[in-house]
Amino acid sequence: MGSHLSTTVAQGRALMNLIDGKPVDALSGQRIDVACPSDGNVFASVPASGAADVDRAVKAARRAFDAGPWSRTPAFERGRLLTKLGLLVEKHGDELAALESRDTGKPLRQGRADVAATMRYYEFYGGAADKIHGDTIPFLDGYTALTLREPHGVVAGIIPWNYPMQILARVAGAALAMGNTLVVKPAEDASLSTIRIAELALEAGFPEGVFNVITGYGRDAGAALSAHPGVDYVTFTGSTLTGTAIQQAAAVNNRGVTMELGGKSPQIVFADADIEAALPYLVNAIIQNGGQTCSAGSRILIEKPVYGQVASALADRFSKLTAGPHEADLDLGPMINAKQRDRVAGFIAAAEEAGVPLLARGSVAHDAPSGGFYVSPALFGAVDPAAAIAQEEVFGPVLSLFPFEGEEQAIALANGTEFGLVAGVWTNDGGRQHRVAKRVRAGQVFVNAYGAGGGVELPFGGFKKSGHGREKGFEALFDMSATKTVVFRHG
Ligand code: ADP
Repeated sequence: MGSHLSTTVAQGRALMNLIDGKPVDALSGQRIDVACPSDGNVFASVPASGAADVDRAVKAARRAFDAGPWSRTPAFERGRLLTKLGLLVEKHGDELAALESRDTGKPLRQGRADVAATMRYYEFYGGAADKIHGDTIPFLDGYTALTLREPHGVVAGIIPWNYPMQILARVAGAALAMGNTLVVKPAEDASLSTIRIAELALEAGFPEGVFNVITGYGRDAGAALSAHPGVDYVTFTGSTLTGTAIQQAAAVNNRGVTMELGGKSPQIVFADADIEAALPYLVNAIIQNGGQTCSAGSRILIEKPVYGQVASALADRFSKLTAGPHEADLDLGPMINAKQRDRVAGFIAAAEEAGVPLLARGSVAHDAPSGGFYVSPALFGAVDPAAAIAQEEVFGPVLSLFPFEGEEQAIALANGTEFGLVAGVWTNDGGRQHRVAKRVRAGQVFVNAYGAGGGVELPFGGFKKSGHGREKGFEALFDMSATKTVVFRHG
């Protein structure tokens, strides 16, 4: 079966859900066309699953958790299976990179970077699986108290379209390391790598029913999965609005959730910073994946003495950026779909209409297919901190610049949105590095660096509307398990 689905993907035929280790269609037989964002052409289709399919998948995951061999698989063996999966990802790296790149439109080198990160997640959680343990707690005389870290049970993972393979890996790596079983619902716009990875998981030796995939629309399959009473925990990465809907659905069953939501992440450039070193990071943090990254660095706060210098250096770089098809491997690819392209273009047009100065615009490759969803990068400055492009997550290649005076104003501006996901601080003043890192409300702060994505070892998650719970690193293993306290009275 290993080669069966991959051949199907390559030939662009009808793909299937993977439930209880078997490829199955949606019970309704309805399907979703899969188009390549680079040209808009349909090259595959996936099942449009509904509530009945979700129910089948959850029941399979429940059986595998309650009664299957998984429930008796020791932690080190779970770790070995994850490590094997990582090695299979490495072995099929070229195929997976090409698949992800075609499905999402991202440049091929980003597809390759995603494969490398995916491999690292399975390797990291493979190694971590047998290194998480409980405590013994000093208690009353005549008692021994200890804690066990137990899996939640069936974990539902709702995955977005921007980094499907990587985000699946951080969810599946942590969930499976702790002994949960999984039902994954990838995004309707980018499901293919999820199906392929689940298939590789079977090949690695994960028992049937441990790693289930159902494809479908968020409003159907996603909504049914988040509200299903057989699901014990829901983990979601995606937009803030959808995160709220999923939490409301999960609340009906009082289930725990991890929410990795939007961002409006600032990078703060102080006048004493090494500006030449900062520039490539400032550009890459918003151009990577076409700006369709929750941790995109979409606001740059620049201390007044160097504002002009940084703004003109960025304008110079922005004017040379080119968007084009994934296989051309240019600075950025297309947006994921027409809706997203129109949304990003709408933000740019509204900012121009409102009189926000447009400092530079990149271009779209002249031979880019007309059916692709391209937006050329846009650089705005100086932007009013209350403007829509200063406050709302655009999720596209749109960068805004803001001048500031002194540390206090920098921190106020950095914290002046509803989000709090990532921040960058550029300064060579050691005291300031620590002060600012402490006062910026963000789940990750980079000093003289910026890392959108990657860093599998680094706990990641939001403050404020950017969400709650932590993914990546050891922290994710705590989110993916629950503490059980056991008390012995022995006299
Ligand atoms: P976008 O709006 O850009 O498609 P979303 O955050 O809505 O981004 O999508 C992320 C994931 O959430 C996708 O897998 C999508 O199908 C799913 N999703 C969308 N709406 C819902 C919903 N109401 N309930 C559960 N999942 C949903």
